[in-house]
Amino acid sequence: MEDQLIISQYLSELRTGEECVITKVMGHGAFRRRITEMGFVKGKKVKVIKNAPLQDPVEYEIMGYHVSLRRSEAKLIEVVLVDDSENIGKSIYSGTFALEAMRKIQEKTKVINVALVGNPNCGKTSLFNYASGSHEKVGNYSGVTVDAKSAVLQLKGYTINIVDLPGTYSITEYTPEELYVREHIFNEMPDVVVNVVDASNLERNLFLTTQLIDMHVKVVMALNMYDELERSGAQFDYDYLGKMIGIPIIPTVAAKGRGIDDLFTRVIEAFEDKDPVVRHVHINYGEEIEGAIKKIQDEIWKNKEITDKYSSRFLSIKLLENDRIFRHMIDELPNGKKIQELVAKEIHRLEKMYKEPADTVITDAKYGFVAGAINETLTPAVEEKRRRTSDLDNLLTHKILGFPIFIFFMWVMFQATFTLGSYPMGWIDAGVTWFSNSVSSWMSEGSLRDLIVNGIIGGVGGVIIFLPNILLLFFFISLMEDTGYMARSAFIMDKLMHKIGLHGKSFIPLLMGFGCNVPAVMATRTLQSKKDRLLTMLITPFMSCSARLPVYVLLIGAFFPKNQGLVLFSIYVIGVLTAIVAATVLKKTFFSKREEPFVMELPPYRVPTLKNTTVHMWHKAVQYLKKMGTVILTASILIWALSYFPKNITFSKNYDALSAQVANTAGLTKVQKEAKVSEIELQKEAERQEKSYIGQIGHAIEPVIRPLGFDWKIGVSLVTGLAAKEIVVSTMGILYQADKNAGETSGHLKKKLIEQVHNTGDHIGERVFNPLVAYGMMIFILIYFPCIAVIAAIRKEAGWGWASFAMVYTTATAWIMSFIIYQVGSLFI
Ligand code: GDP
Ligand code: MG
Repeated sequence: MEDQLIISQYLSELRTGEECVITKVMGHGAFRRRITEMGFVKGKKVKVIKNAPLQDPVEYEIMGYHVSLRRSEAKLIEVVLVDDSENIGKSIYSGTFALEAMRKIQEKTKVINVALVGNPNCGKTSLFNYASGSHEKVGNYSGVTVDAKSAVLQLKGYTINIVDLPGTYSITEYTPEELYVREHIFNEMPDVVVNVVDASNLERNLFLTTQLIDMHVKVVMALNMYDELERSGAQFDYDYLGKMIGIPIIPTVAAKGRGIDDLFTRVIEAFEDKDPVVRHVHINYGEEIEGAIKKIQDEIWKNKEITDKYSSRFLSIKLLENDRIFRHMIDELPNGKKIQELVAKEIHRLEKMYKEPADTVITDAKYGFVAGAINETLTPAVEEKRRRTSDLDNLLTHKILGFPIFIFFMWVMFQATFTLGSYPMGWIDAGVTWFSNSVSSWMSEGSLRDLIVNGIIGGVGGVIIFLPNILLLFFFISLMEDTGYMARSAFIMDKLMHKIGLHGKSFIPLLMGFGCNVPAVMATRTLQSKKDRLLTMLITPFMSCSARLPVYVLLIGAFFPKNQGLVLFSIYVIGVLTAIVAATVLKKTFFSKREEPFVMELPPYRVPTLKNTTVHMWHKAVQYLKKMGTVILTASILIWALSYFPKNITFSKNYDALSAQVANTAGLTKVQKEAKVSEIELQKEAERQEKSYIGQIGHAIEPVIRPLGFDWKIGVSLVTGLAAKEIVVSTMGILYQADKNAGETSGHLKKKLIEQVHNTGDHIGERVFNPLVAYGMMIFILIYFPCIAVIAAIRKEAGWGWASFAMVYTTATAWIMSFIIYQVGSLFI
């Protein structure tokens, strides 16, 4: 009789006018969240306003509001029908709803469907038997029949339906067992998956866990055979592992029933969303695969029906693995063909790059995740350790030895960038000079020639000569990424990074920042917590990007000819130190909340192929070249125009008359005359520049930068550097180069810088540059306003507020640091 009162079904099945009470919302986490926010919470009453068989969406009333749901959404909401027969009728409104029915509904909301998933022989059946009091056969055999046993456990007022699934090493589609488990998870949608893990064989067992993580289902882990782990003498920080992977881990000994109650208590908490450990983490598959996932995901997102049920990320991963079943499913979608094409393209790209099937690359990354997770939490017993000493990881991630090795690699990288780079740099320099001179002689004098020679060739040419340096730097960074060493470096940096409130994983974006801050800011996306992302983003600009390298190369070449490598290295180190201080301060002020730990993958080592590394390097170089073609070209032209105009300047002296006078002076040789004339012309050019628009800007900001020992020309260079730091060199090329016919070459520019004297202020006649000023300027360039592209990237990732903050705090820090360098340094020198 009672059972007739309560009929459970799905919301989509109800007819117009019927009323029901929600007992469960299924489907993918993002879907559940959205639906819950709309008010579809268990225990709430819903009335069907309009539901015609072929009509979509369906209209409902909940909490006095009318809402439409797609039929596919309503299919994921489990309800009990409120029978409108006489005895209970509309009484639900008046609060006198039959007590019996009420009780039943409440019970319904306390039913938890649990599936046991794990490797064969990890103890699932033992756990199942103990929990439910059944007597399924336990033992060391693999299942002959593929099926599931189910039983019921009553605990703390909950009814827990446990299903013992066949044991599998993986949840793909290769064996009937795997297919069975997978279908069960997707079709039956258990509320909680209990992942039974054999603690004595973590590596292989956790691989399955990575697949559950991808599926984005609610998981609680039974760390079974815990007795064996204890006996082996190994130490395992399973609590920390649980926090890192967002899965509560409970040690159990299923054969003896130890830990089973704790396990199911955690299951209840997870079910009620009350377990603080439960959260969804992403396994990081590396830049290339993540890029592919993102692209496919964007396309899949256009189909709500499918993303309500499956995580779009999971689908993308499965498609990249060439999963037959999901491929068929995608075919049914309106944009199925487009997705398939995209997937095929991405798979092709990945396979060409890794020379391995895409699913193997993904599997490798999963093992990398597992290896990282274990490395951080498991201290194997002594004999186990000895067995592993051949492992290269033991050396590269060694607590002490790891650091000198890392520093050595860094040193090699910077040294090679500098030394090897100087040869092609010289060739390009000569080429640019030749080109500039040729153009000068082909064209007739005038504004156009000036624009092309001094504006365009001078500006862009001054930057392009640093291309070899940048390529080399990118080459080394790509090499570290491709071999897998980058991940190891993150690993050894983890403890240090924690000291400044960051995670080892933040290290990778920071390291990338040495190449270019823009991709580095974008790479912070791989960090899970928003706080970590922001913090990393804000300190990334202190990682001296390759765009700043030209400035250093120029100034170091001119003022520190003896210790070039050392000085350069010191700049980078100061950048890193500034980042550390900034992180510590920011952490204490803005980001003082608790942090979530996460796994750092240890991807397999790969022998890098020259081709791959070159391709990666080239990708990065192309970005650089594009920047040169757009931002730098535009800025060069703008700066040239600002320095070329206005044309009608009133000079303080009549230079032309002075020149004519020299020509007519008797008693001078031809050479002497020419020297005098060119000197007068230089003076004229200098005055013209000073009175140009850019000179006016420079003079306006001079009072602010005087305490740093800078003159107005440096000021102008810094202003133009806001667009991109390479432009600083171009600007200096234009401003300091008075010898118009020599073209712009770094050799010339160096000489000009050394000879430059103040022509305003109280230091007239004194040299502008000395090692102190040059160093202060390099530090200023290192630290101030990153560049427009980086600010744009920060704005995109974190909004205008943080972008503005980044602009102001970096510039203020730069000023203070340069001030200290110059003022304190002047006391000694
Ligand atoms: P299944 O294949 O995952 O269902 O695993 P079974 O439940 O059939 O267990 C396989 C074997 O492991 C059996 O011999 C169990 O007695 C044993 N076993 C299960 N749990 C534990 C445990 O926690 N500790 C130990 N030492 N043995 C266990
Ligand atoms: Mg079994």
